[in-house]
Amino acid sequence: MIYDVTVIGGGSAGLMASIAASKHGAKVLLLDKGDKLGRKLGISGGGRCNVTNNKDMDELIKHIPGNGRFLYSAFTHFSNKDIIDFFENLGIRLKEEDNGRMFPISDKAKTVVDALIGQVRRQGVEIRTNSPVKKVLYQGGGVQGVQLQSGETVNSKAVIIASGGCSVPHTGSTGDGYAWAEAGGHTITQLFPTEVPLTSKEAFIRSRELQGLSLRDVTLSVWNGKGKAIISHRGDMLFTHFGLSGPIALRCSQFVVKELAKSERKEVLLTVDLFPDQSTDDVYNQSMALAKADAKKAIKNVLKTLLSDRLIPIMLEKSGLDEQLTYDNIPKQKWLELCKLMKAFPVLIKGTLSIEEAFVTGGGVQLKEIDPSTMQSKLVNGLYFCGEVLDIHGYTGGYNITAAFSTGYMAGKSAAQQA
Ligand SMILES: Cc1cc2nc3c(=O)[nH]c(=O)nc-3n(C[C@H](O)[C@H](O)[C@H](O)COP(=O)(O)OP(=O)(O)OC[C@H]3O[C@@H](n4cnc5c(N)ncnc54)[C@H](O)[C@@H]3O)c2cc1C
Repeated sequence: MIYDVTVIGGGSAGLMASIAASKHGAKVLLLDKGDKLGRKLGISGGGRCNVTNNKDMDELIKHIPGNGRFLYSAFTHFSNKDIIDFFENLGIRLKEEDNGRMFPISDKAKTVVDALIGQVRRQGVEIRTNSPVKKVLYQGGGVQGVQLQSGETVNSKAVIIASGGCSVPHTGSTGDGYAWAEAGGHTITQLFPTEVPLTSKEAFIRSRELQGLSLRDVTLSVWNGKGKAIISHRGDMLFTHFGLSGPIALRCSQFVVKELAKSERKEVLLTVDLFPDQSTDDVYNQSMALAKADAKKAIKNVLKTLLSDRLIPIMLEKSGLDEQLTYDNIPKQKWLELCKLMKAFPVLIKGTLSIEEAFVTGGGVQLKEIDPSTMQSKLVNGLYFCGEVLDIHGYTGGYNITAAFSTGYMAGKSAAQQA
């Protein structure tokens, strides 16, 4: 028996590719090495699955800093709006939260996974779980099929590699697809962890005195060795026992990784602006006015109006101020230093957690070798790629699943039409 399309990997991309391929008339086989499909999808979005983002296309692409522009064509054919319609048509209503993030109304990722698997089944896709693929079989510049770890050979006119990246490997994403791509002549760009917490050896991190402190609506900046801000992100962040986490720390992570690799420095400077809407002068005047209004109060207590209790002793020590000082004896220069710290609190970052612990794998199959309008390999006829195995990565906020669904849809549809 020869299948029209064999999809390797039943994650976000592979499930959507299977649906699109069977919808376009192909006889489809979906192979996954795990005992369940959609395992990463099932834990995504904190178990709620941030299934897409409702922003317009230009904004979507901006939020996919890892080659988002490659997705123009795929988004034109299967966009975030199509993803929303797709789920609504399956009876899964979605709701919009902050920053355009879309979740199922049930707040359960399982709803999304079950809907996709249900559709795959209804469309007659043959599903084989517990079927790890060993290699893709190539012949005469095209694909012939795949070989399973068991030794069994599956013949297929087209093969879609949707095996994911290599982050959170217990979900099945163990990076197997890269070797198959290389065997077909493809280049794999440098893999790196992205959307990953940052690590630091700063004394206030090692002492754990800030562990669990979350900062709301601050700006985090990454600086290069020449003192230039490479990137700044505004939003929420969290101090952990090993460094920084939370949405803006994750967004900054890829820039930290790249800067560390590029500059061969041991640490990268990040700064936190606690008052992004105010200048240093504004902060100075406001804090002085507060101290003056309560002239007998020790400054450590005055500052409670502006800063978290846990940051105050660190800030005062760094700016050389005694916490018992009162308004009348505040040294103006040191107060200015304190205000500068509030605008740029420095945290030296030494790295990130591992690629296995990252939310997303950066790097992957080089996009120059892929046709953006079909997701077909330019090197091997009948070979397609979709999802995180490609050199595409977005910020957290629904962008990665959107990229996986969109490229999955394109790969499935094109493979079916070719087969
Ligand atoms: C904890 C967590 C939360 C996340 N939350 C979100 C979120 O809310 N929104 C968002 O947009 N993104 C989120 N992401 C990222 C997003 O989940 C992924 O980018 C996306 O699921 C990738 O889809 P994929 O289909 O390419 O790969 P995967 O979902 O990783 O699927 C790959 C599949 O291939 C199978 N496979 C691998 N090797 C083989 C083999 N040899 N043989 C057979 N099968 C194989 C695996 O078993 C797996 O099922 C999150 C990631 C993590 C880790």
